[in-house]
Order: sequence, then C-alpha cells, then structure tokens
Amino acid sequence: MFEAPQPDLPAIASDATPPRYSLIVPIYNEEENLLELYRRISELADQLDGPLELILVDDGSRDASLDIMRSLHGQDKRVSYLSLARNFGHQIAVSAGMDVARGAAAVIMDADLQDPPELIVEMAERWQAGYHVVYAQRVSRYKESKVKRLLAYGFYRVLKWLADIEIPTDTGDFCLMDRSVLDVLVQMPERNRYLRGLRSWVGFNQTAVQFHRAPRHAGEVKYTFRKSLNLAIDGLVSFSKVPLRLSTYLGLFSAVIALAMAALVFYWRVTQVNSPVTGFAAIAIAIFFLGAVQLVSIGILGEYIGRIYEEVKGRPLYTIKERGLPNS
Ligand code: UDP
Ligand code: MG
Repeated sequence: MFEAPQPDLPAIASDATPPRYSLIVPIYNEEENLLELYRRISELADQLDGPLELILVDDGSRDASLDIMRSLHGQDKRVSYLSLARNFGHQIAVSAGMDVARGAAAVIMDADLQDPPELIVEMAERWQAGYHVVYAQRVSRYKESKVKRLLAYGFYRVLKWLADIEIPTDTGDFCLMDRSVLDVLVQMPERNRYLRGLRSWVGFNQTAVQFHRAPRHAGEVKYTFRKSLNLAIDGLVSFSKVPLRLSTYLGLFSAVIALAMAALVFYWRVTQVNSPVTGFAAIAIAIFFLGAVQLVSIGILGEYIGRIYEEVKGRPLYTIKERGLPNS
C-alpha cells in the first residue's frame, strides 16, 4: 500500500472557492511521475491569476497511481480524481475529466511532464487576451525515436492534406480551452474522440504557443505503437471522407487498365501478331492487383462502418469505479 509522503508536499490551495482553472491529467500507470507533477503544478499555482483544481483521471492503472491520487485528494481538496473501471484509453480519460471540470478554463496535459506545466502561464495570458483555445505546438521533440518522429511528422501532414477542417500540425492535446469551447466538447456524443480534431472543429479564436517537448520524466511510454496507430486512424476517419473516395479512384484506375489490356489483346488478335499474353504471369498479376484493390476498399469501408456501429450501440463513453471530487 502506498504511504503518502505528507510533510514536504506543498498544498496547491486550501479555500473552497470555485476554481478558475481546471487542469485535467489522464493517468495510466504513472506512479513515478505523480508526485513530481503535483509539485510542479503547486509551484505554478502562485503564478496564475486565480485558483486551480487538478483533476487526475486514472485510466485503469495497475500500479500505485490510484493510491497516490487518493492521498493527494485527502490532503489537498483542490485535487480531484476519477478512477475509470478499466483502461479506456487516453482520449476517453481526458473526456471523463472534462465532464467534471468546473473552471472557467480547462487545461489538458500529460502526466509524464513532457508538457511543461510552466507553459500554462503563457497560455493563460493568451486566454485573457481573448483567445478561446490556446494549443501548444511542438517545435522539437527530445529523446523520441527517429521512426516515431518521422511517422508523427508524416501523419500530421497527411491529416492536414486530407481533413475537411484545418487541424494544426505538430499539435497534441496539450492546450487551454475556454469554458464555451469545453461546453461544446462535453456535449459531443461521439465515441471516437480525436480530441485535437474536435477542438479545431469547434472554431472560435484559436492560437498556438510554441514549446520544446521534453523527454518523459520517468517511466515507460504508455502510448504503444498500436494505440498511436489507432489514434491516427481515428483522426483520419473522423475528419475525412477522402479514404472512401480513394477506393472509387482505385476502382476507376483498375477499370482503365482492364480496358487498355482488352484493347491490346483485341489488337493482337486482329493483326495476327503472335499474342504475348499467353502466360500465366499476366493473369496472375491482374488477379492479385484487383484482389488487392477490393480488399483495401473493403477495409476502408469497414473502418467507417465499424465506427457507425460503435456510435449506434450508444454505450456510455466510460464507467467510473471510484471518485474523489471536491464535495466527497
Ligand atoms: N495514457 C492514458 N491511457 C492510456 C495511455 C496513456 O491515460 O491508455 C496517459 C498517460 O498516462 C500520459 C498520457 O496519456 O499521461 C500520454 O501518454 P504517453 O506519455 O505514454 O504518450 P506520448 O508521450 O507518447 O504521447
Ligand atoms: Mg508522454
């Protein structure tokens, strides 16, 4: 069982006034980062122009994260927590936090301190200057593998090219949002929540602050390659119908090739030239090509139909097994 290191933890605040800022942090096995996160945020609290609440959302952690959250809540009422009944994924965990946020502005950030809390001061200034969404844009990423950086670079550019709306490149979920934007997002019922896309979809005045993405403070990356890939596909499918059109184009392209081949064979027959299309290779290639086109098209179609199915079932976004809110 986790024992709270009580004496040297500075309290964020102790009064019961409603917060001006809600900091939402999804947590999946982050026991090594939680106390440092809390410490950094406590330091930040003095620099903001109003009280803050820290909403920790446990996304089905299997380590001591929930124990740490309980004890932080016990000693500092500005810390709330929700514990989801299983691992629902980062985007859903953030959505759960957004549902209970009470602030005039909400900040979404990771627990591993890759998103520097100190940037929130700059975000808050922009918010006060009249912007509804202030998102953090990375100008560099440290200590992440070349492959990951290259994939992320490529993905954001493909998404920008395909998406129906303007989604800024190199931008994660780290952002500050005004209450008006938060209210719209909370009402969005969709299950496939590519939050950074939904945030752009909402509109209002949006601006970027730039930052250098720090390495993880401690622990392993929780976004596995599979989770990242799923998020990327969610982003593409939720914000673009171009992949569907792609199968139409591929189909048309194959049809043109087929017609050209038919014309060629006909020409060879008519002119009595010895037809070179006698072998197995040409037929095999044609079959494989068409098979590939069809399978890819069905796959793309499936991505969209699968999402329709998810939406139609209308299940709740998440289930909560435990909560520690200001009044509890
Ligand atoms: N996270 C989560 N559920 C998951 C995976 C990750 O709540 O299923 C949280 C994690 O604890 C962290 C944030 O999402 O606070 C970002 O995760 P990570 O640092 O592993 O991803 P990356 O830095 O690669 O975006
Ligand atoms: Mg991280």
